[in-house]
Amino acid sequence: MGYKRVLVKFSGEALAGENGHGIDTKILKFIAGEIKTLVDAGIEVGIVIGGGNIIRGVTAAADGIIRRTSGDYMGMLATVINAIAMQEACEHEGMLVRVQSAIKMEQIAEAFIVRRATRHLERGRVVIFAAGTGNPFFTTDTAATLRAIEIGAEVIIKATKVDGVYDKDPKKFADAIKLPSLGYEQALQDHIKVMDDTSIALAKENKLPIIVCDMFTPGNLLEIIQGNFDRCSIVK
Ligand code: UDP
Repeated sequence: MGYKRVLVKFSGEALAGENGHGIDTKILKFIAGEIKTLVDAGIEVGIVIGGGNIIRGVTAAADGIIRRTSGDYMGMLATVINAIAMQEACEHEGMLVRVQSAIKMEQIAEAFIVRRATRHLERGRVVIFAAGTGNPFFTTDTAATLRAIEIGAEVIIKATKVDGVYDKDPKKFADAIKLPSLGYEQALQDHIKVMDDTSIALAKENKLPIIVCDMFTPGNLLEIIQGNFDRCSIVK
């Protein structure tokens, strides 16, 4: 078995590299290389990237000077910056790429139009969905789940710094146990942080499997998409 159309979600923080901020082009190049292996294997790929390496709404609004809604719009703009950077990296690797933004910015990206996105995918173009859902108070995990469902992706892959879902935080607890497979209800439990509740609820309602994997292991994404689930966790 294997998947034909997937949506991969990367956090903004992942792009930042060691200094925790901004965009590390070496990481961009690595990610683009991983995406290329999928495209070369004939898989249709949608991408969502967060904005946490630049700004998050909650943090921007923490001292009350910037309103939360404005902070969230700033966060959505951050995801556009990341999307454009990723588009460049993917084109540098020889892929055809389109950025579609949930907030209209016609000089730099197409508007999100699901039929158009699907057409791009059918033609082998990678589509990067930017500006989240276009609404404050949501996250890019929710945006990624929403887009995955809209484009009819068979799975959403959350590419992170950990290799799966654990019963407790593996960075804090040495005896944390990896869960190879879990249900949506289990993923909604407070101590298991797969994605935020809104995105898990959306995935559950639409029976969209969520895969959590380590993005820095070369070849991991392709292996998973081809049906080898040894190095990830799956929520279904
Ligand atoms: N955001 C939003 N609506 C959305 C998606 C994102 O308001 O639909 C804002 C929100 O402020 C969020 C920021 O954009 O903090 C960056 O996204 P996120 O925190 O999900 O990025 P990540 O943690 O994946 O880097």
